[in-house]
Amino acid sequence: MTSRALTSRAVTVRAPAKINLELRVGAPRADGFHELATVFQAISLADDVTVRATGGSIDEPIQVTLDSDFAHLDGDPSAGDDGRTGAVPLDETNLVVRAVRLLAERTGVGEGVAIHIRKRIPVAGGMAGGSADGAAALLAADQLWHSGSSRDQLRALAAELGSDVPFPLLGGTAVGTGRGEQLTPALCRGSYTWVIATSGRGLATPSVFAETDRLRAGRVLPVPRVGPELMAALRSGNAVAVGARLANDLQPAACSLRPDLERTLEVGRESEALGGLVSGSGPTVAFLVRDAEHALDVRAALEAAEVADQVITVTGPVHGARVIEEFARG
Ligand code: ATP
Repeated sequence: MTSRALTSRAVTVRAPAKINLELRVGAPRADGFHELATVFQAISLADDVTVRATGGSIDEPIQVTLDSDFAHLDGDPSAGDDGRTGAVPLDETNLVVRAVRLLAERTGVGEGVAIHIRKRIPVAGGMAGGSADGAAALLAADQLWHSGSSRDQLRALAAELGSDVPFPLLGGTAVGTGRGEQLTPALCRGSYTWVIATSGRGLATPSVFAETDRLRAGRVLPVPRVGPELMAALRSGNAVAVGARLANDLQPAACSLRPDLERTLEVGRESEALGGLVSGSGPTVAFLVRDAEHALDVRAALEAAEVADQVITVTGPVHGARVIEEFARG
């Protein structure tokens, strides 16, 4: 008998989506990336990733399964409207597979795994859902294999996987610089209530950066930096001041590619949201509201205007990726 039949060990990690409260984008660098300065906030919308030992070898193909609330997520990459957005690939290109392979390579672990994703974060929505899954997979595999990596080591691996992967490991509210992967926790008082308007059709992040470059062609761009006013508002827990300072340099490009987002933002303004902005590269739009009651009003307005695919109320900041279930038998 092989060990395959005897092994039953699994770890599930929950990792949060993010909103960029301020996103400043510099000129494209020689390596093709843009210099960024941003303030991330982790929100109470999260994916769960389970990494299960198969008893086989890591050199075998890694099976990825997915369940989600989104009807269009059938795991066929061609199902997206432009072939790149809208669906989650279930092959080696999925960030969860790249994450566990990277950890196995660096730690010398040879044990095979299968991975399941419970997806709640909109795909290609500008909320770093794929990055959250990559972060969750790293932490889950580390726990399953007892590889004993420190948080700093995991964060370094996360940065290799993608600019947005380190933040969901850290969580909370943090300033990101470089490509967004160099993080400094930010002082943030209080809890913020957000109404999130999702869109069934994703926006590919590279297209939004390309459109941003096109719209700003010929302009001399300052070195990106986060404004002291937002940081002061977060430190004092002043939601009205935070709402007034929400800003995203990618928003004009997201709205140029998706003009319907202007109407979504307008509905938020009409219902007196404290602030609203396109989240990251979009097309998700996030509105900061006063409290749970105000959230109901903003939700009702968005639903009545039929500008969103789904409207969700969340809070932030929340903590970073953490183990929520561990199972071991045999
Ligand atoms: P970001 O905010 O970091 O720019 P996003 O939230 O706009 O990202 P994601 O949901 O992370 O977008 O997905 C972007 C693309 O990454 C998808 O279209 C999909 O092809 C690919 N992808 C790879 N792995 C995953 C994953 N686990 N979940 C979602 N998408 C994934």
